Amino acid sequence: LVTRRWLFADQLGPHFLDDPDQPVLLVESRAVLARHRFHRQKAHLVLSALRHRARELGDQALFVQARTYAEARAQVHEPLSACAPTSRGALELLGRLPDVEVLPERGFASSRADFERWADGRTRLLMEDFYRDARRRLGLLLEPDGGPVGGHWNYDSDNREPPPRQPRGTDAPAVLDVPEPWWPEEDEIDEEVRADLDRWEASGEVSFVGRDGPRRFAVTHREARYALHTFLRKRLPAFGPVEDAMLHADWTMAHSLLSPSMNLGLLDPVECARAAEAEYRNGRAPLASVEGYVRQLIGWRDYMFHVYWHFGPDYGRHNYLAARRKLPRWFADLDADAVQAACLSDVLAGVRDRAWVHHIPRLMVLGNYALQRGWSPQELRDWFHYSFLDGYEWVMAANVIGMSQHADGGLMATKPYAAGGAYINRMSDYCGGCRYDPKQRRGEDACPYSAGYWAFLARNRERLEGNRRMVQPLRGLDRLADLDKVVAQERGRASTAP
Ligand code: SF4
Repeated sequence: LVTRRWLFADQLGPHFLDDPDQPVLLVESRAVLARHRFHRQKAHLVLSALRHRARELGDQALFVQARTYAEARAQVHEPLSACAPTSRGALELLGRLPDVEVLPERGFASSRADFERWADGRTRLLMEDFYRDARRRLGLLLEPDGGPVGGHWNYDSDNREPPPRQPRGTDAPAVLDVPEPWWPEEDEIDEEVRADLDRWEASGEVSFVGRDGPRRFAVTHREARYALHTFLRKRLPAFGPVEDAMLHADWTMAHSLLSPSMNLGLLDPVECARAAEAEYRNGRAPLASVEGYVRQLIGWRDYMFHVYWHFGPDYGRHNYLAARRKLPRWFADLDADAVQAACLSDVLAGVRDRAWVHHIPRLMVLGNYALQRGWSPQELRDWFHYSFLDGYEWVMAANVIGMSQHADGGLMATKPYAAGGAYINRMSDYCGGCRYDPKQRRGEDACPYSAGYWAFLARNRERLEGNRRMVQPLRGLDRLADLDKVVAQERGRASTAP
């Protein structure tokens, strides 16, 4: 006899069942939505995905719409099993509920046991080392002798190209010449979700951040497979070289747009990585693009998940750089129109309108700005969690606390991701249309990123002095004759919209 499987809203793909016919419990909890200010489109995506799964499964699923998970459990009078949920809170909750067997987690390329075996005895848990271990263990992109295909484990150096320029002789903004991603068509379930969210919002029961808009991401395994197929066949070849570049008129570039599907559990990351490898083996995609994609999937994504568990609940409280400023209202509310800095305004508008921007705007525009200004890493982590379609507690802990804000003091990244306007100018087309000048650090036209960079270094000099990778930047700081003036100027702009 197979026990009924409780599927959480991020466990919606077929790989969370032991058997395709296994009975299922799905719970839609209104209290979760009411507890936080989610992006409107995130609430839509999650509810739509849950309800689509319930319809797909028909009589096989009990679909309970309740205020809380505990109330839902009380309505089901049989033992349950669940794959370990992805957050500590949900795991503890399951431990308190009667008769729920908790199985190991699924939906990641490496298990928690794999990670702990790898981490055992290491002083530094570098993502690159973990990724190589996972490649070997999973047999991905390997030569018959066990070495990496092409002779290198990492093709990052091929994947740092700036974006294409504006076409000569036209006013048209630059875009990447690559086929469109797959786009979904909304159906009656989306209509119903939209009506429910409108009603709950009007009654004051829930409140959202961001704007509503057409659904742009998959909500079923089938839809996610279409999106994956389109990416692999049409867009993956172009992905690698410009994966770190930004264009104001092209928010998708050649990105897969699959992270929301992956984090809803609609796709199995190992299957996706193997499908990408097949594109390389069949001569349809270059190695640098395929390797870059596989690294995101089985390297970065898993690493974030395992770091969340490995370092325990205290990890989220780290604040190595003593950054305590509150997130300003204009930022928290995604008020892109209040911002004149072209890069930040466009990226904030992307979050407001789509609840998704790719990894470089997140890290180098949003995260970098907050880091420079000393905003609370915990507030920023929660903001990313609730404002992004693919944001979950496990993703944002390591991404924001560790990587983006260096609040863990370097447990997972060797140096802070702080950069001035020169970086954004090189990797995007934003600066040409901006009222600021990336080369200026003082005065009316001073680029907030360039000035903010120096102010950040000055404020954190002592904490960063022991870091080998910060020696050069700190030497640069010593050469600045006008540092005091830059610092005073930036102190005055710490919370105002730039
Ligand atoms: Fe952003 Fe500075 Fe460039 Fe303006 S000049 S787009 S603020 S980096």
